[in-house]
Amino acid sequence: MQGVRRSYGPVPAVRDVTLEVRAGETLALLGPSGCGKSTLLRVVAGLDRPDAGRVLLHGQDVTASPPEARGLSLVFQDYALFPHLTVLDNVAYGPRMRGAPRTAARERAAAVLDRVGLADLAARKPHELSGGQAQRVALARALAPRPALLLLDEPLSNLDEQLRASLRAQLRTLFREEGAGVLLVTHDQREALALADRVALMRGGSVVQVGSAADVFARP
Ligand code: ADP
Ligand code: ADP
Repeated sequence: MQGVRRSYGPVPAVRDVTLEVRAGETLALLGPSGCGKSTLLRVVAGLDRPDAGRVLLHGQDVTASPPEARGLSLVFQDYALFPHLTVLDNVAYGPRMRGAPRTAARERAAAVLDRVGLADLAARKPHELSGGQAQRVALARALAPRPALLLLDEPLSNLDEQLRASLRAQLRTLFREEGAGVLLVTHDQREALALADRVALMRGGSVVQVGSAADVFARP
């Protein structure tokens, strides 16, 4: 993101943000409700147009590209799985849409499901899953097509604390193993500390500090 600005009214939601997610890293956007995190994520996803500034992907200006041309995956807190498809076919959907043959897409889906510990649930339908299982399937579905960047907006916030804690540990390993670049929006400091390589602190539409999780959370 270079000099990204977005206003909905007189007050800018995002002001001149310049930020980079490096290959394979998890960057957390951390800040209180209303500070502009989701707006920034939508601009990166192409779901919202910035008033000023640019979005670059692998050095290419994608500011005017539609979301589907960006090769990104999104997971929101209210994940929606396709209710009529099995877990396996939900996860195979992305690779299929990118042109993978049915067998290859299913093999990729099975491998990612194995990574999130859900290989045994491949034949189930979404309504047969617990909340934590469904969220892991949503993450597997987002990772399956090997997105250039995985965008996560408060991905664990609908889960209870115990489940959140166990998923935090699992996801860090998963993102590392997949080599996925991740941009994570959260208001939860523990989530940023557990998942992120670097943290960008936001206040009032601006990034006020960027650094390693250890540096940002270090108390002087
Ligand atoms: P966060 O994700 O950090 O909670 P948001 O990016 O959702 O923050 O919102 C930033 C600011 O922009 C807030 O003041 C919010 O009310 C405002 N805002 C966000 N989306 C819209 C919208 N579609 N229309 C009007 N105002 C919006
Ligand atoms: P895009 O191709 O723009 O990435 P998708 O087609 O993957 O978008 O779908 C976007 C969202 O719409 C999905 O997250 C899903 O919740 C919903 N959706 C799309 N197709 C279906 C479907 N056949 N059944 C149920 N929900 C669907």
